[in-house]
Amino acid sequence: MTKTNILVTGGAGYIGSHTVLALKQAGYNPVILDNLVYGHRDIVERVLKVELVEGDISDRALLDRLFATHDMAAIVHFAAYAYVGESVTDPAKYYRNNVVGTLTLLEAAIAANIKKIVFSSTCATYGMPETLPLTEDHPQNPINPYGSSKLMVERILNDFDTAYGLKSVIFRYFNAAGADKSGTLGEDHNPETHLIPLVLQTCLGQRDYISIFGTDYPTPDGTCIRDYIHVNDLATAHILGLEYLMGGGNSDAFNLGCGGGFSVQEVIETSLKVTGIPVKTVVTERRPGDPPVLVGSSEKAKQILGWSPQYPQLEDIIAHAWQWHQQRHGKSV
Ligand code: UDP
Repeated sequence: MTKTNILVTGGAGYIGSHTVLALKQAGYNPVILDNLVYGHRDIVERVLKVELVEGDISDRALLDRLFATHDMAAIVHFAAYAYVGESVTDPAKYYRNNVVGTLTLLEAAIAANIKKIVFSSTCATYGMPETLPLTEDHPQNPINPYGSSKLMVERILNDFDTAYGLKSVIFRYFNAAGADKSGTLGEDHNPETHLIPLVLQTCLGQRDYISIFGTDYPTPDGTCIRDYIHVNDLATAHILGLEYLMGGGNSDAFNLGCGGGFSVQEVIETSLKVTGIPVKTVVTERRPGDPPVLVGSSEKAKQILGWSPQYPQLEDIIAHAWQWHQQRHGKSV
C-alpha cells in the first residue's frame, strides 16, 4: 500500500523535525520543504531519512512543481521565523515570511486542491492575559510582530475556509521544550534565546551564567511562570490534528500546553536535580513584553482530539533535553 504524503514545511526545524519523526512512525510519508535558514540538513539526512525539498514557502513555481509531482493529502505548516525580539526590530522580515510566504503556500495549495492544513500558531497571539488559564476564546491582542504575524495567518485560514473550503487545525503552542527521548533529535537554535537550552548550555560550560529576567513579578518566587510542553507531545498532537481533518473535522483552534506552569527559578532548580550541576545565575532587568504568568488550558484538545501530554513533568522535559545537549555537544560531564 502506498503511504499518504504529507507536506511538512519547516520540517528540518525543532518542532517540525519531531513531528516528521512521529509522522513516519504513524505510517505516513512526510515530505519536507525547508529553506534551511534555521533548519538542519544533517538531521534530515542522518536521522529522519525522508525527502527534503530545499526551498522557500514563498516560491510559487517550486510549490506548483512539488504539488504536481506529489499527491499531498495535507500540509503541516511550521515554516516561520520565531524570534520575538527580532520581530520587533525587523517586522518586515516577519510579515513577509510568516504572512506573505504563508499566503503563497495557501494559494498554491488551493490551486492544487489540497484542502487540509495543520498550522503552528502560538500563545503569543493572546498578548497579555486577562484571565488564566488562557482558553481558546480569550481575546487575541498580540503585543509583538511575531504574535501578530501568526494571528494574521489564523484570520487568513478562517477566511480561506469560508471562501475555498480549506480546513485547518490551528495549534497555539505554549513553551515548547524537551527533546526526543531517543537523544537523536532536539532543540538547536542559533542564536538560542530559550530558557531551558540556555540553562543546559550553562551546565555544559558553554555559557558562564544564566540571566534571570526579573525577580519582582507577582508570582510566588518572583520569577515568571510558563507552561512548558514536551516537543514529543506537540508532535503527537499534530498527528491527531491531521487525523481529525482526514475524518472530516471542521476548522478549529486548540491550545497545546500542560496547564501547569513552572517559574524560571523552578526550571533552574529542576535542572540541578537532573544534571547535578549547579549554574551561576545573574538577576537582570525584566525582559520587555514578558507577562508574569502564561498558562493555558488544553481541555479543548483533550476533548475534541483525544490528546493528552505524555510528559507533563518538568523533570522529564529537562532530562530528555539534557540527554540531547550532552550528545549534541559530545561532552561527558
Ligand atoms: N528567561 C530568563 N532568562 C533567559 C531566557 C528566558 O529568565 O536567559 C525567562 C523569560 O523571561 C521567560 C521564561 O524564561 O519568563 C521563558 O522564556 P523563553 O524565552 O524560553 O520563552 P518565552 O516565554 O519567551 O516564549
